[in-house]
Amino acid sequence: MDFKDHIKIIEDFPKEGIRFKDITPLMQNGKVYKQAMDEMAAYVKKKDADIIVGPEARGFIVGCPVAYSLELGFVPVRKNGKLPREVIKVDYGLEYGNDALTIHKDSITPGQKVVIMDDLLATGGTIDATIKLVEQLGGDVVGLAFMIELAYLNGREKLKDYDIFTLMQY
Ligand code: IMP
Repeated sequence: MDFKDHIKIIEDFPKEGIRFKDITPLMQNGKVYKQAMDEMAAYVKKKDADIIVGPEARGFIVGCPVAYSLELGFVPVRKNGKLPREVIKVDYGLEYGNDALTIHKDSITPGQKVVIMDDLLATGGTIDATIKLVEQLGGDVVGLAFMIELAYLNGREKLKDYDIFTLMQY
């Protein structure tokens, strides 16, 4: 299946010069969405992960269905101020902006094997910050999985110590 047939490219969104990859047409098609999640789940299974971590909001779109299908837990990473209990926090830079990410302090058991999932790998800033959060809690990041990789932004370079799986590359 060519997943790219179900991705729409929007010029100059959310800022001029950005070619935004819209995954919502893929999600809208139940068969294609399931096939994409099944392929990502096969990767997570192969890595023998104990738990999945995903940054808001689109990390939930890929992380939660895969966690459900493999009967694994899912841990949300959220923007500052969104999680209700004690968190740890890390600052990061995005393809278009700056922010801080947080994770509940008790969400990972030291030594747990973690796969981090998101919709898209751009510069790698979001995932780099997410890795820092997981590792600060003692988690062992055994893999990173994305639907889309923007290869021209060299995210892999920043994340070269980690195993990376992507369904589509641009
Ligand atoms: P990075 O931190 O630069 O790797 O950017 C990845 C994050 O930005 C992901 O959480 C994406 O959801 C979002 N993002 C960046 N560019 C795009 C895009 O073209 N389409 C959809 N999401 C994007």
